[in-house]
Amino acid sequence: MILMKDIYKTYANGVTALNGISVDIKQGEFVYIVGPSGAGKSTFIKLMYREVKPTQGTIIINEIDMSEIKERKVPYLRRDIGVIFQDFKLLPKLSVYENIAFALEVIEESPRNIRKRVMDVLEIVGLKNKARFIPDELSGGEQQRVSIARAIVNHPKIVIADEPTGNLDPDTSWGIMKTFEEINARGTTIIMATHSKEIVNTIKKRVIAIEDGLIVRDQNRGEYGYEI
Ligand code: ADP
Ligand code: ADP
Repeated sequence: MILMKDIYKTYANGVTALNGISVDIKQGEFVYIVGPSGAGKSTFIKLMYREVKPTQGTIIINEIDMSEIKERKVPYLRRDIGVIFQDFKLLPKLSVYENIAFALEVIEESPRNIRKRVMDVLEIVGLKNKARFIPDELSGGEQQRVSIARAIVNHPKIVIADEPTGNLDPDTSWGIMKTFEEINARGTTIIMATHSKEIVNTIKKRVIAIEDGLIVRDQNRGEYGYEI
């Protein structure tokens, strides 16, 4: 489902973030991306939703070669991928409900359908009673739940999360992980960059370690492998 072959990425300033990466991630997998700061994890993740384009190499997602995709088709591709960030990236002036509804392709859905889908997804993340709140009125964990709801409301095949628990306390982080496991149990592929040793070593999944732009380790039910 996600296939990368010999990927290199050098940014405009000359920094080489990825130095020849190949990987094969199947539908339904749960993968942690670990490694030191500056190793290339975010770049690796951004390639998958085309926030970044490779300097060299092939990326195939859901059988589509990304190098052959036209710019105007990128939004369609993104519909199959939900993205979750460390800092949530919610729209501050919109309610929880509106933040999620906004992510739906409004043109194709009737208001009734939109309402159903937003409420369904709020149920999944346990925030049905906060639909009318604005992000500022929520805790960090709740805001992250809203961003998860927004990421899954289109029923994506892939959910990508870049340090989703980075701004959350441990208790809240475990709750977020439980939600990810539930989403994964529905067949959604999850790719999560993280610095949490506790999470990786407790909820055992495939671990891909990146150092200096290279994959240095790729293990099923792997360990975090770093001290912090
Ligand atoms: P990580 O997520 O593991 O911390 P990144 O992928 O963010 O690593 O960064 C890898 C390297 O690429 C770092 O040296 C970083 O400074 C550099 N880098 C990241 N983004 C950019 C950018 N937009 N322009 C230039 N250099 C970048
Ligand atoms: P429907 O298409 O009728 O919504 P589904 O079985 O696809 O039926 O979804 C049932 C519930 O699960 C809905 O509330 C939906 O929002 C949610 N859901 C569907 N797909 C996913 C997914 N990939 N990840 C998380 N939740 C999902």
